Amino acid sequence: MPSGRSGRTSPVSSEFGLIRLLKAQVAKPDREVFMGIGDDSAILKTSSSVWTVITTDLLAEGIHFDPARSSFEDIGYRAAVANLSDIAAMGGTPRFMLVALAIPQTCSMRKIQRLYRGMMQAGNPYRVSLVGGDTSASQRGLFLSITLTGIVKPGQALLRSGARIGDRLYVTGTLGDSRAGLELLTNSRRKGFSAMKPAQSRWLVARHHRPSARIAEGRWLVKQGLATAAIDVSDGLSGDVRHLCEESGVGVEIVAASLPLSRACRAYAAAHHVDPQHLALQGGEDYELLFTVPSAKQSRFERLAASTTFRFTCIGSITHKRSGLRMRTDTGTTKILPITSYEHFRGPLR
Ligand code: ADP
Ligand code: MG
Repeated sequence: MPSGRSGRTSPVSSEFGLIRLLKAQVAKPDREVFMGIGDDSAILKTSSSVWTVITTDLLAEGIHFDPARSSFEDIGYRAAVANLSDIAAMGGTPRFMLVALAIPQTCSMRKIQRLYRGMMQAGNPYRVSLVGGDTSASQRGLFLSITLTGIVKPGQALLRSGARIGDRLYVTGTLGDSRAGLELLTNSRRKGFSAMKPAQSRWLVARHHRPSARIAEGRWLVKQGLATAAIDVSDGLSGDVRHLCEESGVGVEIVAASLPLSRACRAYAAAHHVDPQHLALQGGEDYELLFTVPSAKQSRFERLAASTTFRFTCIGSITHKRSGLRMRTDTGTTKILPITSYEHFRGPLR
């Protein structure tokens, strides 16, 4: 992390180092701010009956999307889900959206209209209203920034910081699908493509283009009041679990064999001779929720969960901070959890 004199002159080399630096520089206590920098969304104590959650995400052409591989509808959809997912991670209900665009000359009106169609397709199930934004020209590539607000009952939001030693760690849905879909799109592992069923390839690509925001799951978790902490998996499990542990001041042990993998992801991994657990740990943009439940409440939680259509999988336990972040391998040994998730400025995924 850059600091002091060298911090002012050296290039930005760590996304999260920069955020820490900015937080220390500018964050000031304000009575209305319940949560500022440091969680998936900020929380504002807007009234005694309802609090506002607010989040923003920026997507840059060439970094987050490539119009040669994704339709503008899909780019818009995924951008909206990135924001919806940060509201879901707080257990919030999404409400209002603002959209800022920087548009290169190569982009037609029609493409931008298609981008908005995709955004609204993602937001419509939650009756999200688009209430404004900003528009600029861009000299290089399309930039799309969405700001989304939501609501939550006072004091009920799920935070990254609530995990305690002994808590069970859960994740919604399946992990690694979006990554596998992206690899299929980029043809980076073309060999073996034909070894997969076309329907499975299509499903993985759809998981990349049109991920699900786990709004219903987040709201359900808040309603049951059993979860202690949550974060969404946007950069990859190995990195996002780290954020949850850092904010909670704890360690974690993940059981590799319990990572939830879809049949299509397993088929992809087999056809391309890659480790599906690796896809699950490093694959970003799954937009699943990672959350913790106290071990004493685990059976109650699982009983309640069984009466829903949600898929929750226990993938490990919260440990003492000094144990660090560890993974129990299939052979029963434990090793340090590899950091393979995405971080801006760090370079490409390994
Ligand atoms: P997420 O992956 O959930 O979108 P990020 O890792 O992007 O979260 O951000 C982590 C925290 O840092 C959030 O609270 C976010 O609002 C804050 N943050 C990120 N970038 C900036 C920035 N440039 N200035 C101020 N706060 C930032
Ligand atoms: Mg997030």
